[in-house]
Amino acid sequence: MPFSKLGLTPALLNGVKAMGYVDPTPIQLRAIPVVLGGGDLIGSAQTGTGKTAAFALPVLARLGKHEARGPRVLVLEPTRELAAQVETAFRDFGRFTDIRATVVHGGVGYGRQRSEIQAGTDIVIATPGRLMDFLGEKTLRLDNLKILILDEVDRMLDMGFVKDVKKIIGMCPRERQTLFFSATVPPEIEDVARFALRNPTRIEIGVARTVNQSVTHAFYPVSQVKKFDLLVALLEKTDFHSCLIFSRTKHGADKIARKLKSANHSVAVLHANRSQSQRVEALAGFKSGKYEVMVATDIAARGIDVAGVSHVINYDIPANPEDYVHRIGRTGRAAAVGDAFTLTTPEQAGEIRNIERFIGQKVPQMKLEGFNYSAPPSIGAAAPQRYVDPRRAQQQRGGHGHGGHQAQSHSPQQPAAGQGRAPTPGQGPASRAAHTGQGFGHGNQPAPRKPGGLSRGSWTRRG
Ligand code: AMP
Repeated sequence: MPFSKLGLTPALLNGVKAMGYVDPTPIQLRAIPVVLGGGDLIGSAQTGTGKTAAFALPVLARLGKHEARGPRVLVLEPTRELAAQVETAFRDFGRFTDIRATVVHGGVGYGRQRSEIQAGTDIVIATPGRLMDFLGEKTLRLDNLKILILDEVDRMLDMGFVKDVKKIIGMCPRERQTLFFSATVPPEIEDVARFALRNPTRIEIGVARTVNQSVTHAFYPVSQVKKFDLLVALLEKTDFHSCLIFSRTKHGADKIARKLKSANHSVAVLHANRSQSQRVEALAGFKSGKYEVMVATDIAARGIDVAGVSHVINYDIPANPEDYVHRIGRTGRAAAVGDAFTLTTPEQAGEIRNIERFIGQKVPQMKLEGFNYSAPPSIGAAAPQRYVDPRRAQQQRGGHGHGGHQAQSHSPQQPAAGQGRAPTPGQGPASRAAHTGQGFGHGNQPAPRKPGGLSRGSWTRRG
């Protein structure tokens, strides 16, 4: 069914068209009619499924025109990056309307957020801490609220926001529509849902335990002391377009970034100890291609939408299996393809088992050919020779090579029966450059923005 049959207004259909979307994704098909009809909703959807438009479009349709009486919609998000991303989505979809959206999060001054709220905004997208500040000083009142959206609830609870979230729900009018999104809905989240929702429709798209079909993933066993050398070797041998590297700790992320910089990579770092302006600069630089590599902690794993991440490398295996799915979900978004490598050390057999049990799949264990696993670790990193995919080099020279470079790449140590594709640096599907949102029929150029109205976004999506 096309977007035009879903009951959205012409202005919003123009917004959708300007975004280059052709067909609705499954969650959009199912959620948009429910939200337009005014019902409560619990949605669990895999990352990258188009969840934001699934709530933003019908919510904008329900609002109609701008009103200055105070926000009618509140969206709660766990991180500043997600809040900023969702605000941009509202502005993008609503660019042909006069609806106003304001983002409210910590790490920046209060002044501009306060004046936008006081000027009268329709939609507030907020992280819980800063929102509580504005509610406390009564700059922001929720008397006029019609729709409450709780996004990434499981993440919000993981981050210790449960008390604030419950308090905020308690401050909203009882007569309202509530939309609730969580990757998983374990019993403690069911409790919050029961507290917040009335007769919700449940929509489950995919299962949050599954890894996107479009992502090829593998483990790379290595000793602790050789991890960094293996990372450098993987990057050398991989014809990546943009690579997101996950570290378990903020300190570790800084250290990896420092070493990669001295190995001549252009690197951004994203974690909670960085200032807001550093976080914005890192993400914007990674999105624009200024940085080819971004090293991040799990703060970046949830929901952050960077089109065209070709490779994810888990320098540290994630602390819990669910984060494995979320981390590698940063590549292969919107049906594009991607590769994900996880470095594992011998003492992590238990963690590996937990991940495999969680995703219900055995992950191939690979060895990087040509890498000397037994040599002493190098101190500091030498500048790498960047690997050039021979097929590409040949294509650039005008040939069609399927040249024999297979042997120089990875070989499975324990190929697991029936286990999809194993990635091969320089050969995996993501190395084929074509990984920017083709799946749902993206247009690649962001459409021109209308001056005023919803056009002031901090950054725009990359097509
Ligand atoms: P989300 O799951 O909301 O973070 O969306 C993931 C990505 O899919 C974003 O880059 C969206 O812009 C894109 N997307 C969402 N809906 C569609 C659609 N119907 N057609 C094409 N791309 C879409």
